[in-house]
Amino acid sequence: MSNVPASMVECFSSIQGEGVLVGLRQAFVRFSGCNLNCSFCDTPGMSQAPKDCLLELTPGRRDFLKVGNPMSGERVVALIESWAEGWPGIHHSVSVTGGEPLLHGAHLLELLPKLRRFLPIHLETNGTLHQALAPLIPHLDYIGMDIKLPSSSGCSDLWDEHRAFLQLAAQRSVYVKVVVDQSTEDWEIERSCQMIAEIDPAIPLILQPMTLPDGTIAVSPLRALEFQELAGRLKEVRVIPQTHKFMGQL
Ligand code: SF4
Repeated sequence: MSNVPASMVECFSSIQGEGVLVGLRQAFVRFSGCNLNCSFCDTPGMSQAPKDCLLELTPGRRDFLKVGNPMSGERVVALIESWAEGWPGIHHSVSVTGGEPLLHGAHLLELLPKLRRFLPIHLETNGTLHQALAPLIPHLDYIGMDIKLPSSSGCSDLWDEHRAFLQLAAQRSVYVKVVVDQSTEDWEIERSCQMIAEIDPAIPLILQPMTLPDGTIAVSPLRALEFQELAGRLKEVRVIPQTHKFMGQL
């Protein structure tokens, strides 16, 4: 069992709302903390570790139990095991998310092989910490990584970090997610596509129109089409907004 505790936000069951696994039921394991500070961040518990982690006892029923942080991996493994045994087949995979889960690399190195006995592992990451990714590669089935555009995220000059990360991540089933809004410029899409194409043009690219706090989409229908056309050098380019927000899912 895992001896390295970690600050966590929540474990719950829901429908994946983003990326190539959109629509599938997943067990979400969310870690606190992040090394970035995106202007559009909508994830709770990232600036400081929450006092308690919320564990959903029955998958999808929101009957949360509070457990004090930092939390041991044993609690997470026991929860996922209970779901796998009590509700067999309802989950496609475990989504390890944040925040930035790779900030908890030592914990993940112990936790992921144990969780993977029950379900495949999907890592959701901002795609900047390649040194933390390297030892975890054998324990991952899917990797969803971001490329943070300066326009939409407010983060600047992460291109080298993203390139190093994608080169490693390409050893597994990886896709790239790029959040776009009306301020996104053509060169940002082109530079992202060039990077992906140089590593493997078959890596799927998800263009994710930003959802504003009032629920509206921050990209006009025409601009979404233009973004997709700009990415034409790649084999698989999908435009998918955050669908869980439409459905009232966590
Ligand atoms: S990488 Fe994700 S969690 Fe971190 S600040 Fe950006 S949006 Fe928030």
